[in-house]
Amino acid sequence: MRVSVIGAGLGGLALAQGLHSAGIEAEVYERDPGITARFQGYRLVLDPTGFQAVRACLPTRWHPLLDEITMDASAEQLVLDPQLNEIGRLGAGRTGIVVDRQVLRHLLLTGLTVHTDAALTGYDVLSDGKVRAQFAHRDPVSADLLVGADGVASAVRGVLSPQTAPTDTGVRFVIGRTPLTDEFTGLSKAYGSKIAGDGVSLLLGAMRFRTPPKRAAERLAPDVTLPDIGDYVRWAMILPPDGSLGGATAQDAVLSRTEGWHPQLRALVEQADPDNSTLLSIRVVEPRERWAPGPVTLLGDAVHATSPTGGNGANTALRDADVLRRCLVGAVERRQDLIGAVGDYERQMFEYGGEAVRRSLAALPAFVPDAQLPERA
Ligand SMILES: Cc1cc2nc3c(=O)[nH]c(=O)nc-3n(C[C@H](O)[C@H](O)[C@H](O)COP(=O)(O)OP(=O)(O)OC[C@H]3O[C@@H](n4cnc5c(N)ncnc54)[C@H](O)[C@@H]3O)c2cc1C
Repeated sequence: MRVSVIGAGLGGLALAQGLHSAGIEAEVYERDPGITARFQGYRLVLDPTGFQAVRACLPTRWHPLLDEITMDASAEQLVLDPQLNEIGRLGAGRTGIVVDRQVLRHLLLTGLTVHTDAALTGYDVLSDGKVRAQFAHRDPVSADLLVGADGVASAVRGVLSPQTAPTDTGVRFVIGRTPLTDEFTGLSKAYGSKIAGDGVSLLLGAMRFRTPPKRAAERLAPDVTLPDIGDYVRWAMILPPDGSLGGATAQDAVLSRTEGWHPQLRALVEQADPDNSTLLSIRVVEPRERWAPGPVTLLGDAVHATSPTGGNGANTALRDADVLRRCLVGAVERRQDLIGAVGDYERQMFEYGGEAVRRSLAALPAFVPDAQLPERA
């Protein structure tokens, strides 16, 4: 069996790793000109299902490394005023495992064949049941299965299920990260907390690796090369619709809304790493109509893009990768039909994927009351 995976995000790479480990040929085609071509380095909280899914897709020899480059999610969930006085509690924090997306991506890339500068533009299903994918800057490739793991604006979805279109909630997310130096240890009670200002909130979360990723890989898995990054603080601000940035940088956008706030909070934003600070639009995709199973399927944000306020997009993409991997490996082992395996995956994915989107949307109004939500069917 030959599988072409479109998109080198977390979901596509986890699937390719899982298939590769099982001896199934899987190549990845990524639109970006290089793997580190743009901002990818925010921290993610993985719940037990998401974390187990990515673990299951990785060779067991890398499990100790995976454990060493993560941290446990802090249960600390305070609400602080802009001068860092406690004014409330958010209730029990999310439990799970915190990972850096960029570091996890590097681990997932190891040993795979990933073609960059390979933007899919369309595909054809051939008379022998195979699929031929077309790309903007390279020759077509044929496979038994084409998996669209190409994110919220998925080109694969555009052909397979054109009626499934993303909804722009109008909400913008400003996100950045700042090295966790001694200067910011005094802010520690604010990590995992919400700083509630007048009409605007700043969310802070620390990423503290058990061992810095590069050193951990050298010690535990010399065949893996991980980026040389240290601990950092992720800060994020959600801007309501029309909270346009104009020409400002992500840092300026936050600084202009936090005048008079505690000097350490402002210093944290001022000292951010500009390459890892950006503005994102929150778009969602809700899977509604199923298509007849065939040699093309979707995975991750391409079929169920959530709002980051739900904190479940990566978890669900990784779960897809693991479920699809299991269905395909099972079909190969039992010499069963590929299309039956794809249908089995899609039946499960539509159920939990739809639920993940609905949960993330239910959480959005608590942050942004006037977000534009998809119309209910
Ligand atoms: C700020 C922020 C914080 C988040 N925090 C969390 C969290 O705590 N927990 C959680 O579970 N989720 C979180 N998420 C959501 C999570 O990051 C995403 O749901 C997840 O990364 C989706 O993975 P994916 O593989 O489906 O898609 P992506 O990671 O979007 O990858 C898609 C890939 O496809 C490529 N591509 C696109 N078009 C083409 C094409 N035509 N041809 C070839 N390649 C193409 C893209 O370049 C990209 O590399 C967060 C998201 C954001 C923005």
